[in-house]
Amino acid sequence: MAGNVMTVGNVSITSLSDGLLEFDLCNFFPSIPEENWQPYRDHLSREGKVSFNLAAFLIRSDGKNILVDTGLGPKPDDAPETPWGELLNDFQAHGISPGEIDAVVMTHLHRDHVGWNLQSADGKYVPTFPNARYWMSRGDWEACHDPALVEGRFPNAPQCVWPLEDLGLIEFMEGETQITSELTSLPSPGHTPGHMSIVIRSQGESALVLGDVLHNTAQVHEQDWVSRADMDAAQARATRGSLLDRMEQEGLPVAAVHLPAPGFGKIVRLEGRRYWQSL
Ligand SMILES: [Zn+2]
Repeated sequence: MAGNVMTVGNVSITSLSDGLLEFDLCNFFPSIPEENWQPYRDHLSREGKVSFNLAAFLIRSDGKNILVDTGLGPKPDDAPETPWGELLNDFQAHGISPGEIDAVVMTHLHRDHVGWNLQSADGKYVPTFPNARYWMSRGDWEACHDPALVEGRFPNAPQCVWPLEDLGLIEFMEGETQITSELTSLPSPGHTPGHMSIVIRSQGESALVLGDVLHNTAQVHEQDWVSRADMDAAQARATRGSLLDRMEQEGLPVAAVHLPAPGFGKIVRLEGRRYWQSL
């Protein structure tokens, strides 16, 4: 593996980024007393905050370019200082044009995964990736239209997700859905009702794009720690536990959206304890 590219058989995964987000611990993990973080200070930023990469993975499979997640989107002038809104700059830095993307696949529909889907011009929405189909789970599509959930859980869906229907650009994932001959969605609910991870299989090798099953490497040790962004805490714990078991047993390389860039790693066990090992 070189730098921000991981290969899995014939598939390559390039880790791009829309920037960084930071939260105070008490804000993002409100149910975890701050002293419980004491053994995990090195999993936090220098200021003791939860720091998120906003990865977007460019996957090349079957001769197609697939973009997994589209970050938080253009940064408003009054936004906090952290550097976000960088995805299209990162495209440019890698010599990739938005027109080369054949499919956008969203792990889920929270605001930091759909931000660059669309742009508005002359009062109309246009796709940022003009040649792409946009894949999402039917479960999250329904959830992001629930009036009880839109404002709190899917605040930018009306601008970044809903218009995709009228544009005729949506492909739904339901259960395990084949996206290319090498990519299949894997239901991993809890963080959102329809959250999807993506299994990659090529030439006898496998890997997993994890989405938001993990937000911080401390959760590899403390798998029951849920964040305020996890919509169903019990389900999120169950999904995290079973996927961590699978990653360890199969030695699966993983691409994780919010873990430190490039977000590639695997679960290893040393002296009876699991660790996240960056790749
Ligand atoms: Zn997220």
